[in-house]
Amino acid sequence: MSEPVLIRGMGLAGCLLGHALEARGIPVHIVDAAWLGAASPKAAGLMNPLAGRALKPAPEWDTFHTQARHSYRHLERKLERSFLFERTYWTLFRNPEEAAQWRGLLNDPERSCFLDQSVQNNATPLPLQDGCGGMAVVGGSQVHIAKLLDASRSYWTQKGCFETASLAPEAIQALPDGRWQWAKRSYRAVVCCGGAMDHNTPWWAFLGIRPNAGERLMLKLEEPRMPEAAEPPQGWPWVVRKAGLLAPMHLHTGQAPEDGDVATEQVQRNRVWWLGSANRWDTMDHHPTEAGRAQLHRMAKGMLRGAFGVLEHSVGIRATMPDRRPVVGPHPRLPNLWCFNGLGTKGSLWGPWHAEALAHALQQQIAAPGSGGATAVAEGPIPAQETPYRAPRPGAAPRLLEACLPARFWP
Ligand SMILES: Cc1cc2nc3c(=O)[nH]c(=O)nc-3n(C[C@H](O)[C@H](O)[C@H](O)COP(=O)(O)OP(=O)(O)OC[C@H]3O[C@@H](n4cnc5c(N)ncnc54)[C@H](O)[C@@H]3O)c2cc1C
Repeated sequence: MSEPVLIRGMGLAGCLLGHALEARGIPVHIVDAAWLGAASPKAAGLMNPLAGRALKPAPEWDTFHTQARHSYRHLERKLERSFLFERTYWTLFRNPEEAAQWRGLLNDPERSCFLDQSVQNNATPLPLQDGCGGMAVVGGSQVHIAKLLDASRSYWTQKGCFETASLAPEAIQALPDGRWQWAKRSYRAVVCCGGAMDHNTPWWAFLGIRPNAGERLMLKLEEPRMPEAAEPPQGWPWVVRKAGLLAPMHLHTGQAPEDGDVATEQVQRNRVWWLGSANRWDTMDHHPTEAGRAQLHRMAKGMLRGAFGVLEHSVGIRATMPDRRPVVGPHPRLPNLWCFNGLGTKGSLWGPWHAEALAHALQQQIAAPGSGGATAVAEGPIPAQETPYRAPRPGAAPRLLEACLPARFWP
């Protein structure tokens, strides 16, 4: 068997890249530190075409969402699990001004295609604070990331190509011919997918990744408005949005619900909702805070009329780039060392497209004659270790590490 690519970190980025490389016949070896602050297991996995208070369509939505749907459906077939669910985003208006602002959007062709006026206030199963009304955003979806990670981990563990360990840069040696070595095994390339943990890794400190901690609650709702029997088999297809987001979610048990206890699954399907998030910048502290809990409680009360119980309060730390775009490409000086990071708040949407782009670039690099890769990579300008990475002009593509890589990493 040919030498694998070493993937350092298996959150969503490392996971999607592993599958994209395998699909191209490139073997992988994945090592993950099981960091408790990882963002992926805590994420809601939402893909919303009209996100943010600015109500702007998500940039390049069609390209990213089409690829995301294709990739997640492909992984559902490969891993024989369901991860991707259609969602309607029910936006609750906070006041009459906001209601008027949204109604104005109905005349805007760029946005009106995502709005469905026919959906009524009482359509969702939840007892909501909906006195000012709301509007449905359609065409979005949700991926259950924790479930995808669990299934992928089992799959690669069975194949003998996953292990749990923390890979410090000094433990991995660059060989003179451009390959890499770790624990007496050699690799064609190393790809770092360490999320926020890489913000101060010497190799990548120059990128200026900012950690952004997000706290979430898993809520158990005591009084669903609809009888349980009315629930569709795939669970409620609703995400509710106001000051925060409320999304249906299986409580992550480390076990796929299909294999689990039927009674527990029933309760989870009907009653467990993800609520997020309360955010803090520039911290790697993955412990939940009192302030975060209080903020999340206020969000919940602003959205729900009924009682709720808190099943879990936890934190995930996102990796965010200064220009809020992913960072994907080779290291400017070290051959065959790559990164895939900066997925910020949109990993589910951006991850699949960027994983495909990166796998394609790696495949080309590996296939190139004399693919030690030293020449191809080292020719580009070399950012000084201490100079923070400067993002390109807004709207300009290609994004990030453009100096080092003659490939476009933004559609
Ligand atoms: C509360 C919250 C809500 C979110 N909601 C959404 C949402 O609705 N929609 C959406 O698209 N995105 C959402 N996100 C963002 C999403 O989670 C991220 O964009 C994405 O999961 C990032 O994936 P990642 O693989 O880059 O990083 P991570 O998930 O942080 O994974 C990094 C991995 O690298 C490993 N690692 C680090 N260093 C090493 C090392 N030295 N050796 C070995 N392994 C290492 C860690 O153990 C970890 O598993 C949310 C995030 C949070 C925190």
